[in-house]
Amino acid sequence: MTSNLKDWDFKEKIIQEIKNKGGWVNTHSHLDRAYTVTSKTLKLGNKHLHKKWEIVDQIKKSSTVDQIYDRMAFAIEQQISQGVTVLGSFIDVDNVIKDKSIKAAQRVRDKYKKDIQLVFINQALKGVIDPKAKKWFDEGAQFVDIIGGLPAKDAGKEAEHLDILFDTAKQLKKMVHVHVDQLNTKQEKETELLAKKTIEHNLAGKVVAIHGVSLAAHPKKYRQKVYRLMKKAKMPLIACPVAWIDSIRTEEMAVTHNSIAPVEELITEKIIVAIGTDNIADVYKPFADGSMWTELRFLLETCHFYDLKQLVNISTKNSRKVLGVKAAIK
Ligand SMILES: [Zn+2]
Repeated sequence: MTSNLKDWDFKEKIIQEIKNKGGWVNTHSHLDRAYTVTSKTLKLGNKHLHKKWEIVDQIKKSSTVDQIYDRMAFAIEQQISQGVTVLGSFIDVDNVIKDKSIKAAQRVRDKYKKDIQLVFINQALKGVIDPKAKKWFDEGAQFVDIIGGLPAKDAGKEAEHLDILFDTAKQLKKMVHVHVDQLNTKQEKETELLAKKTIEHNLAGKVVAIHGVSLAAHPKKYRQKVYRLMKKAKMPLIACPVAWIDSIRTEEMAVTHNSIAPVEELITEKIIVAIGTDNIADVYKPFADGSMWTELRFLLETCHFYDLKQLVNISTKNSRKVLGVKAAIK
């Protein structure tokens, strides 16, 4: 009788099952800039993504290793307190921040190694083609566990950007995580390019797409073509639902959709879907607090996706897989 009273409480059931399956996995964050938003920079929240990339430079320039360490440590403790056992974070490594995030990342890894498994990925915010940018990309690639990419930073040369990432990944025998299709517009076809390039480089199963929001803005026939390529490339997708649900209204005509990758279609196609929080309390997402439940709730609501077993898989084993982590730490 009493257990039936709680039959409606799916949140409780999902969270319990996630605990049983080794705990939450947060596959995508940018911990080195968490908690950097201020009352002054909050006003910049409505600027275009590409403008924000520049704004962040000031913070990166003025931050000391200790400050970056403190921000990362606070974020990690917030994650541990929710039951996150594996956490993937991009760290900026470029000519502005130089190796300050690498140093801070090494320190947090040592400090929290008994409590949480940390996986680091380098963010190429200055691209990877410009020789100065490439030098820092190479430096970051050595330190991190997974090679990170952002082809939009080398606009017009996206394919070349991916060639550099993939050659580096092959050399260092590391996986690759790439930000693609972030702007919720059918003008973008980066997920398609990423899958094609993965196949061309024989890296099937080693490359992960992050976001893929713009997929949902394309007609069904195009989406299905991309799913076929993703399957051939064995390419999972990381959804960070809160990060892009704030996509700004435009007059562009598109199929009706929410601003998130079509998770329910990807699952039906047997493409692995994982989950992450993305930015926490920074100029990109001032109100994002890193709550894993909030992310999962947004995912299930925006995709009308109520398959409890799959929701648990997304939060646990699928996410461990995209980070290359075999089992949760006990
Ligand atoms: Zn990101």
